[in-house]
Amino acid sequence: MLRTRRETLTVFLFLAVALVIPGSLCGQTVPAAPKLSVHWEELTASDFREGIHRSQGTCLLPFGILEKHGPHLPLGTDLLDVRYAALHAAEQEYAVVFPEYYFGQIAEARHEPGTMAYSRSLQLALLQETTDEMARNGCKKVLIVNGHGGNESLLPYFAQTQLDKPHDYVVYVFDERTPQQGGPPKKTKIDMHAGESETSKMMTSRPDLVHQDRASSESGADQARQKLPEDVYTGIWWYTRFPNHYSGEGAAATKELGEFQMKWWIDSVVKAIRAVKADDVSPKLQKEFYEKSTHPLDTQP
Ligand SMILES: [Zn+2]
Repeated sequence: MLRTRRETLTVFLFLAVALVIPGSLCGQTVPAAPKLSVHWEELTASDFREGIHRSQGTCLLPFGILEKHGPHLPLGTDLLDVRYAALHAAEQEYAVVFPEYYFGQIAEARHEPGTMAYSRSLQLALLQETTDEMARNGCKKVLIVNGHGGNESLLPYFAQTQLDKPHDYVVYVFDERTPQQGGPPKKTKIDMHAGESETSKMMTSRPDLVHQDRASSESGADQARQKLPEDVYTGIWWYTRFPNHYSGEGAAATKELGEFQMKWWIDSVVKAIRAVKADDVSPKLQKEFYEKSTHPLDTQP
């Protein structure tokens, strides 16, 4: 069958469209966004760039500690638990998670084995350089997820002192670990450190490290040795009440309570990541504040 040149060209183009182009598309399927680790240290340099883009510059700094946790939990309880919560949260709402960090305030446990208590000046300097370096790498929103009760004055103070000079990033602090209500009923009243809640959470994150059979070998009761009004604060207060670095009863812990509390913690961190990503007010007003603070006399009411 004879064809004109035009017909031949049409047939050729049809074949090209019908066979070659779809073939090449099948051969190289349009790539779905590749799964990226949420662990800073597991990303390649170019994947890190993609991770920062995907997280919208939001990075987590889970903050633990190394200190005694009763007679039955590991020294790294706060570090292990906060990383468990933060990593699971970042899997649900993508954020880059900084590696192990445990350089916080724990002077009150220096009499117990295994405590790493860095000096006041080093705690602040190291945290500042860490968040500065995170920001230099694109983390313009640093969400510190606190896992350690002894940091609860340090971290708001650190966040407040970000206003002393300009920073091109915002520090946020999330400092809740235990729901106030809901879930399986709790059996104990005093439950501040290595007690029912913390032991239960560890049964979820690292059950292999819980030695519940040892939980009653020391007392976690409040020794109430200090006779001061509640509104007078001293640094020695914790030692006066809980010298064994144990507050509560780990023997009361259950896996059910741990699962409930850990899920609540993870969900709460997810909400915090979403809120931080959506927050365009803090970066903007922080910048405005830094600028105005260079000429306070010009500030209009
Ligand atoms: Zn703890």
